[in-house]
Amino acid sequence: MIIHYCLFGIILNQTLDGGAVILAVVVIFISITLFKQNQYNKRLNNTRTLNKNSTDFTFNLFRSNRKMPPSGYRFLADNFEFYRKFSPKQQKLFAARTIKFVYDKNFEGRDGQQVSFEMKVLIAATAIRLTWGLKYYLFPSFHSILIYPGEFYSGFSKAVVKGETNMAGVVVFSWKDFLFGVSDQNDNLNLGYHEFGHALFVERFKETMDDVFIDNYDRWRRLIISKGKLKEAELKHTFRQYATYNEHEFFAVAVENFFERPEKFKNDLPKLYNLMATMLNQDPLASAQRYDRSSF
Ligand SMILES: [Zn+2]
Repeated sequence: MIIHYCLFGIILNQTLDGGAVILAVVVIFISITLFKQNQYNKRLNNTRTLNKNSTDFTFNLFRSNRKMPPSGYRFLADNFEFYRKFSPKQQKLFAARTIKFVYDKNFEGRDGQQVSFEMKVLIAATAIRLTWGLKYYLFPSFHSILIYPGEFYSGFSKAVVKGETNMAGVVVFSWKDFLFGVSDQNDNLNLGYHEFGHALFVERFKETMDDVFIDNYDRWRRLIISKGKLKEAELKHTFRQYATYNEHEFFAVAVENFFERPEKFKNDLPKLYNLMATMLNQDPLASAQRYDRSSF
């Protein structure tokens, strides 16, 4: 950084003829760019799992100006039923948030997995659906999405897994399993909703999370721990067996059910369903028109 400021000083001491002014503008631009890149690299260094060489320079430089291309709007409509039900105004807002997520995160393929723009949009839209009712919708504690072609070995879990969300700010997916979740949006299995459900839990410890989520998550905990709702869900077979593994998996599986099979969830466990709707400030069973988040 010292070098950049020195360059800036030298230019100002020169006679400001036309060439010098242009040169000054170029140097200032480069200095600001390098400063921003330096800040971004510092953030990346927080995790050892990332390959720093893959940082996309131009992507970071212009990310704040990116807009969803027309093909992105079509892609969202082709892939998400809930998006098709939105009003045009809601669709525009949802697309804007989705593209913001795309350029806010560092997407990396692993084990030879290529990462296309469409893949980023699919993942981003899945994340944004969870936070659609919230003010802090970008999962600010998470800076990277890693994508493997299939199941992968997790050093953290010491097991082969389909997905992982870790406190270092990284969400990891098996692409095969992510796609499987998106391919049927009514079967209670959605790896994307599941992992971003865990990510929401992590966000709850940060200042950048809506109070409505933090407060109601505490109520949720009390219900499932001391009021036996976890056991009730198990007995009614509302969720798949994996939900009963622990409190965190219960929440992540409940998020999958909330979006993919809300009728059964509400019918079996109305108190928990209503609490989740309050927590996320949205209700998949309500008319889409009622959820106009344009005030945010
Ligand atoms: Zn899980």
